[in-house]
Amino acid sequence: MITKIKGTYDILPSETRKWQELEEVIFQVSRLYNFKEIRTPIFEASELFHRSVGETTDIVKKETYDFSDRGNRLVTLRPEGTASVVRSVIENKLFADPNQPQKLYYVGPMFRYERPQKGRQRQFHQFGAEALGSYSPAVDAEMIAYAITLLKALRIPKVTVKINSLGDQESKEAYRAELVKYLEPKISELCSDCQSRFQVNPLRVLDCKIDKDSPILVAAPKPLDSLSPLAKIHFQGVLDRLQAMGVDYVIDKSLVRGLDYYTHTVFELEADLPTLGAQATIGGGGRYNDLVKNLDGPDYPAVGFAFGMERILLALDSIDNPSKPDYIHAFLIVLGQRSQAKAAEVMMRLRHGGLIVDTDFFGRPLKAQFKQAQRQNAMYILIMGDDEIEKDVVNVKNAKTGVQETIKSADLYQYIVQGIQSQSHSCNGQCESCADEC
Ligand code: AMP
Repeated sequence: MITKIKGTYDILPSETRKWQELEEVIFQVSRLYNFKEIRTPIFEASELFHRSVGETTDIVKKETYDFSDRGNRLVTLRPEGTASVVRSVIENKLFADPNQPQKLYYVGPMFRYERPQKGRQRQFHQFGAEALGSYSPAVDAEMIAYAITLLKALRIPKVTVKINSLGDQESKEAYRAELVKYLEPKISELCSDCQSRFQVNPLRVLDCKIDKDSPILVAAPKPLDSLSPLAKIHFQGVLDRLQAMGVDYVIDKSLVRGLDYYTHTVFELEADLPTLGAQATIGGGGRYNDLVKNLDGPDYPAVGFAFGMERILLALDSIDNPSKPDYIHAFLIVLGQRSQAKAAEVMMRLRHGGLIVDTDFFGRPLKAQFKQAQRQNAMYILIMGDDEIEKDVVNVKNAKTGVQETIKSADLYQYIVQGIQSQSHSCNGQCESCADEC
């Protein structure tokens, strides 16, 4: 038997409904903030990720799925979404579109060669958004509000927004110098990974998975203390707007995030929920003012975030969040050979009218067909045998009330639609239209 690749998994039909419901909320919230969907390929030239995510990040050093295709091109399965969106924005000249900032979101699979565990897979899914074209701190705040609105819409509790600023290039260089000065005499006490990170990109020492909680790193200088005057103004602008929008946050001076391209604001969203286990971070993002330029585009600032969709679903497991039950409108029980063709005709008619209809395809006995109708959670069970065909009628049973009636074939569609409408209407006869009918 061929089995799935380690770190991947199937989303089976019994689970797809909760994915569709999550996607539905993502689409609605994105619409509220007027973001439009972008779909990019799941593989790109390897160079794109090396130059954007950063050669010295864990993602590029240890986690990418790289291969050369049959034309000897070096390609990589995307480990994150931002690089591809930026590539597409440059290639399609979206920076020149009169509609600015460009407000884009994406949903799709990402690939990282990580150690699989609960909430961490090798193929996982992200919902991410990018706002490109504006330097305004209002856009940073807008992105955080967008992320929080999504979690609110999903009713995920106990969420903390952690925020920090790395500043502009000037601040980042000043901070790098401070960090090197501090780490140089102590670096031999840290792990070998930290030591090699220190040589090429000292900032990456701060997110070393082995030593990140060591007292040396905990006491290291913080980026906020090296902010340039302009970077300070930007950060304060973000905080002021968050306050105006009623978004609570905590400043986490140690937050740096594991990707090289960030400037100014970085943020993470954590949920303190038992079902998330060790993977409390559901999403994160930040501003990346230089990435478009560094990928040979124009000077075009941006800010974005990404959520892990599996983590969101794990968080949802902590709350009482029943999925809407699956159902069909009608199940057609067919008895006898002669009824088959007529049944097919009836089903097509009902489906053309927008009803969800299914039937038996095994010639099961009556009782087993009833069972199948129940398994499918059919609202109406339609019974057709030779007798009914003769009289051009259908026996219709309302699964909820148990009431069974014989309905003329020609009236069947109307009968079911009216029945569904009155079942989904729960005013108990109090509203005006019901009063009229009564
Ligand atoms: P990042 O692009 O690393 O900032 O990740 C953004 C979000 O994607 C994280 O906060 C997680 O929720 C999710 N994520 C990252 N890596 C994985 C993974 N290997 N498996 C599942 N979710 C992940």
